[in-house]
Amino acid sequence: MTQNHPTRSCPFCRETIYANALVCRFCRRDIPLTRGPSQRARPSWLPLLFATAIAIGGAALLSCELRRERRYWDDKFTFLDNEES
Ligand SMILES: [Zn+2]
Repeated sequence: MTQNHPTRSCPFCRETIYANALVCRFCRRDIPLTRGPSQRARPSWLPLLFATAIAIGGAALLSCELRRERRYWDDKFTFLDNEES
């Protein structure tokens, strides 16, 4: 039987403990649970990045559309100006 638990060192006493240990078995202090292999935290920035990308894309599309609209109106008004003079 092979013990293949991931280990790390206790931040307080530097003894080797299990990576997912909540309490050090040597000094019996609470271990702040950081990156455990069983606890794969979902990256919280991913949906944020996605939303930002959508927002930037939407803004770019909107500004592009507005610019085209404004050019259209500019052309129309210059055309009217030319016709008047
Ligand atoms: Zn310890």
